[in-house]
Amino acid sequence: MTRLHESAFAHGSCTCAACGTMSRRQFLCTGAAGAVAAPALAASVGGRALAQGAPAAGNPGRPLLIKGGCVLTLDRALGDFERADVLIEGQRISAVRPDISAPGAEVIEAADTIVMPGFVDTHRHMWQGILRNVLPDGSLDDYRTVVQRTFGAKYTPDDVYAGDLFSALGAIDSGVTCILDWSHIHNTPEHTDAAVKALTESGVRAVFAYGNPQNETGRFWEMKGHKFPDDIARLRKQYFSSDDQLTTLYMAAPSAAPELILQSFKAARDVDARISIHVGVGEFGRNALLEKLNAEKALKSDTTYIHCCTLNDAEWKLIRDTGGTISIAGYVETLMGHGNPPVQKAIDTGIRPSLSVDVETSVPNDFFQQMRTVFSLQKNEVWARRLAGDKNPPKFLTVREVLEFATIEGARANGLERKIGTLTPGKQADIILLRTDRLNVMPMNNAVGAVVTSMGPHNVDTVLIAGKVMKRNGQLVGVDFARLKRLGDEARERLFSNAKVPPSRV
Ligand SMILES: [Zn+2]
Repeated sequence: MTRLHESAFAHGSCTCAACGTMSRRQFLCTGAAGAVAAPALAASVGGRALAQGAPAAGNPGRPLLIKGGCVLTLDRALGDFERADVLIEGQRISAVRPDISAPGAEVIEAADTIVMPGFVDTHRHMWQGILRNVLPDGSLDDYRTVVQRTFGAKYTPDDVYAGDLFSALGAIDSGVTCILDWSHIHNTPEHTDAAVKALTESGVRAVFAYGNPQNETGRFWEMKGHKFPDDIARLRKQYFSSDDQLTTLYMAAPSAAPELILQSFKAARDVDARISIHVGVGEFGRNALLEKLNAEKALKSDTTYIHCCTLNDAEWKLIRDTGGTISIAGYVETLMGHGNPPVQKAIDTGIRPSLSVDVETSVPNDFFQQMRTVFSLQKNEVWARRLAGDKNPPKFLTVREVLEFATIEGARANGLERKIGTLTPGKQADIILLRTDRLNVMPMNNAVGAVVTSMGPHNVDTVLIAGKVMKRNGQLVGVDFARLKRLGDEARERLFSNAKVPPSRV
């Protein structure tokens, strides 16, 4: 009786027995608890589970039972549940249904939370984690000058380590459980080792996309000391010999001449690594690059195309016809001059986009911002067409579609749709619990609506990655904040001094 058939219900078409007897309130995952003060609730949750700050999953052999939450599986066959339990054995979800009996399991009480798959980011330059907010007013040109050619050219391996670690821990803290590190800071192989080390230490599910180095001119191919792109063969052997691990390998193909791009595609495919590439960015993106690459038979289903704002129609068809995926970083695209975020264009072409943060130098690190950006942009575009007299405008996006972009479509673009992106038994347990007993969403009337339209990182109570508890009761587990503070301050001081940038913060 707790199964939800929300979309069918919304259209008045669901005829199952449960729907016939459930009230609208029940459909919307309303919490059962009354108006209890939020702090008291927060303190009571988890009493039977992990103590705050305790090692994740206290007993590694013991199952975990997430009990009594409003469960959005985002698996269309499985549906959603007004109230259900999620059983986790080892790294995997073994069952999702109401009233699971699992004697001996460690229980995480999930009343007054929404339980759903973690968010999946398909493109973030994580080395910039120590450069947060360095360019809040900047354009793309400013970004290239300041972030890449001034700071990036002077990065040490220790700076890469600190940047990646901050970005990864910040992602986990905000409910992003899987993230593609679009890593173009490989000035030497030691820079690469440092990035991989930080990702591994953080515990995030990471896709490491190996990219080019940075220097003062932007012409990285003239640099000495770097090993791009051929070092990817070493990385495959040294760090990524199995795909059955938390970190997997991609190639981050450069924005450069087609010959250099083709070289990197070949190096990737030689070691069976998927590919991610920026295309259709600003005026430069109107160069029909994908038509040129297609002439070399280089476009395949193993590639994710980022931004795509200024691609031509032939290029869009090439992406679709070759089975590629796309990543829209809607917020940064509106800020920095990439072009109009192509949400409607993707839908018109028949491609469901994934989402990405891109740069923390001017973009918040959470996915609530990303979801709301593409949602409002698409609706604005449709309204504009209606106001202009369009008699056949596109359909409005729904909040559920946007939530799918942020989860399962991200998993697809990161090559992990068989492992993550929905709460399906057999998949890896990458799960977040979002508090509904907070003043920004209580009383809760609509679960998907609450997540997409009202929540923020402060609603993220608990985060699991591959069955391991990474955040509990609103606090990251096992993170030494005093060490982090030191690491960040030292990296900042060193980097600003090496780059000869005044260290002023105001
Ligand atoms: Zn980017």
